[in-house]
Amino acid sequence: MTTVPAPSPAPAGVSAWVSVDLDAVRDNVAELVRRAAPAQVLAVVKGDAYGHGLVPVARAALAGGATWLGVAQLAEALELRAAGVTAPLLSWIFPPGADVAGAVDADIEVTVGSAWTLDAVVAAARERGRPARVQVKVDTGLGRGGILTDWPEMVERVAGARAEGAVEVTGVWSHFAWADAPQHPTVRAQQVRFLEACAELERAGVRPPLRHLANSAATLTNPAAHFDLVRPGLAVYGLSPVPDLGDSAHFGLREAMRVTARLTLVKRARAGQGVSYGHEYVTERDTVLGLVPMGYADGIPRGAGQRGPVLVRGRRLRVAGRVCMDQFVVDLGPGYDGSAGDEVVVLGRGADGEPTAEHWAEAAGTISYEIVTRMAPRLPRVHVGGQR
Ligand SMILES: *Cc1c(COP(=O)(O)O)cnc(C)c1O
Repeated sequence: MTTVPAPSPAPAGVSAWVSVDLDAVRDNVAELVRRAAPAQVLAVVKGDAYGHGLVPVARAALAGGATWLGVAQLAEALELRAAGVTAPLLSWIFPPGADVAGAVDADIEVTVGSAWTLDAVVAAARERGRPARVQVKVDTGLGRGGILTDWPEMVERVAGARAEGAVEVTGVWSHFAWADAPQHPTVRAQQVRFLEACAELERAGVRPPLRHLANSAATLTNPAAHFDLVRPGLAVYGLSPVPDLGDSAHFGLREAMRVTARLTLVKRARAGQGVSYGHEYVTERDTVLGLVPMGYADGIPRGAGQRGPVLVRGRRLRVAGRVCMDQFVVDLGPGYDGSAGDEVVVLGRGADGEPTAEHWAEAAGTISYEIVTRMAPRLPRVHVGGQR
C-alpha cells in the first residue's frame, strides 16, 4: 500500500478544508473484504460517512468491494438513493411517524428492533401491497437498540408477519458493547447469545440469509464474529478501532481524511506575551505566533487547548492557549520565516508524520470517531481519487 501523501488541492480563498482520499477508502474496503471473506462487507456511511462525505464515500466503498451500505437514519438512505446509488442499503434508526412506505418504495431495508417498528413496517407493507424487507435486531447485551427481554414474543410476531406476506426477513443482527476490547468476557457472551437468538428464530421457521454482529474492531480482531456479513465503519476511513493494539497502518489501512488550514496571520511577539483567551499560554521567549483559522465551530475540540497537534513545515507544534470559536494560535518559534498563507496540516496520515484523528482524540479526551465526524459542514470537502 502506498504511503505517498495524497495531493493537497488547495481551494482558492478558503481558510481551511477537508480533503478526502477516495482511493484510500476504496483500498481500505478492499482490505476489509479480504479479511472478512467469505463474509460480505457492509460499509457504514452514517454521519455523512463519518464526516467524509456520504455519496462519494459510498461509491468508493462499493468500488472497493463492499456489497452493502449501512446508515443510521432513513433520511441518509434516501439521500443515497436520490444520488442514484442502487446497492443494498440497511438503515437502523427511524422515529414513530417516519415514512416507512417511502423506504419500501426505495428498496431500503429497515431494522425491526421493537414491537412498534414491526407494526410500522407491516402497516407500510400493507399500504404498498408488497412485502417490506426487514432485518431484525436483537439486543445481545449492549443494552441499547434492539429486542431484549421480549425476544421470544417478537420471534412469534415476526414469524406471523412473514407468514402473512407483510415482511421478508433478510437479516438478523446485533451490536457489541466491548468490541474494542476483544478479550472482554461480554464479547464471547454476546456471540453465544446471538447464536441462541438465531436458533430461536429458526425454530419459528425464520432463517434469514444474513446474520451479522461485527463492527470494525470485531472485523479486524475477531473472525469468530464475522458470520455472513461485517459492518465496519471507522476502519473504512483508515482509522484504527483498537488503537491500543495498533495504528491503522498496522491493520493495512490508511487515513482518508486530511484537514488543512492556511495561516491567516504570522506575527512577532515578545517573551511574556499571554496568548488567546485567559492567557493559558505565555511565550517564554521572543517568538513568532501563527493564527490558524479553525476553531470549535469547525470541529476543533475546545478541550484540546494547549495540546492539539499540528504540522507546520514539517514540524509538530501544539495549540498555544485556548481554542476559540473560529481560530487558535500556534507558537511557530523565533526562527520562523514564513508568512500568512502557509499551510498547516491539522490532521492527516500518521505514516507520513502528520497528526492523526487519534492524536486529537487523545488531546481532547475523546475518540477518533468524534474528531472526524464533527468536522463542520462549513469546511469544504475536496474529494481526490476515485471515480466521481
Ligand atoms: C456505527 C455502527 C457500526 C460501525 O462501527 P465502527 O466501530 O465504526 O466500525 C456498525 N454497526 C452499527 C449498528 C453501528 O451503529
